Amino acid sequence: MSAQHEVLVVGSIGLDSIKTPFGEVFEVLGGSAIYFSLAASFFTSVRLVGVIGEDFPKQHVELLKKHGIDLSGLQVLPGKTFRWKGNYGYDLNEAITLDTELNVLANFAPQVPDIYRDVKHVFLANIDPDLQLAVLDQVRNPELVVCDTMNFWIHGKRDSLIKVLKRVDIAIMNDAEARELCKEPNLVKAGRTILSWGPKRVIIKKGEHGALMFTNGSFFSAPAYPLEEIFDPTGAGDTFAGGFVGYLASCGQINDTHMRRAVIYGATMASFVVEDFSVQRTSALNQQEIRDRYQEFQGIVHFGE
Ligand code: AMP
Repeated sequence: MSAQHEVLVVGSIGLDSIKTPFGEVFEVLGGSAIYFSLAASFFTSVRLVGVIGEDFPKQHVELLKKHGIDLSGLQVLPGKTFRWKGNYGYDLNEAITLDTELNVLANFAPQVPDIYRDVKHVFLANIDPDLQLAVLDQVRNPELVVCDTMNFWIHGKRDSLIKVLKRVDIAIMNDAEARELCKEPNLVKAGRTILSWGPKRVIIKKGEHGALMFTNGSFFSAPAYPLEEIFDPTGAGDTFAGGFVGYLASCGQINDTHMRRAVIYGATMASFVVEDFSVQRTSALNQQEIRDRYQEFQGIVHFGE
């Protein structure tokens, strides 16, 4: 894969403890950069910038390597790895954060290795927006910069987040986050407000109701895959982003049709991750399963000429 097609990602790497109506897990592999990287690795080469503590299990590092994820930008700091504890009720669209322990993430100063600085595609996964800005300051001339965030940072670091939005091409967030960030209940108006801050494109994810993509002159609406069994929605947003950015990075020149296909690849990847806890489903996927589900999506949205 040529450097033209690589993706650089910065985001959290963590150990998640999660309870859903269907089960419970303790300190499993999670974090925005992890979900993103594994999904994107099915489309392109991924270069990961992130931090772990000395307690991070070795088998997780091995899993990333097995998927060809480049770890030259991974720092190991003294102390504990980031931890997140969340619950879901029967409305699986809404995660309730019970505890966030930043641990080594609190002292993280991302260092983009020299060999990554000319990368053409950058994904700023959910992490402190000041760290997202620090990464943007270190890359030289990216063609596509995409960011994500969450309510934790919308409440805690709104001003820094708006600075990030000024410097990205595409902002991705979920419906509740867009409403909170813009203090606007209507999603179309919230999308317009986000566009007015800088990005050329905004994607608002609506969980089991799909995703909306806005530019100043266009609108695209994608359904979610109609899954009957959703086990754990954690990571759906980051996995969506992995399919979306990973596919775009694999395209080279990007036009509006690629953007629309990328949304469907994002939704395809997200539909897999929710079928099991952590990255169990995504890490066991193969290309044929991805192609088959993408084709099923085509059937779902087709309504003739
Ligand atoms: P999502 O795709 O939104 O479900 O993201 C889930 C992942 O976000 C989990 O694996 C968590 O480890 C991670 N996460 C939770 N809170 C934060 C936070 N404040 N900053 C960065 N990552 C977080």
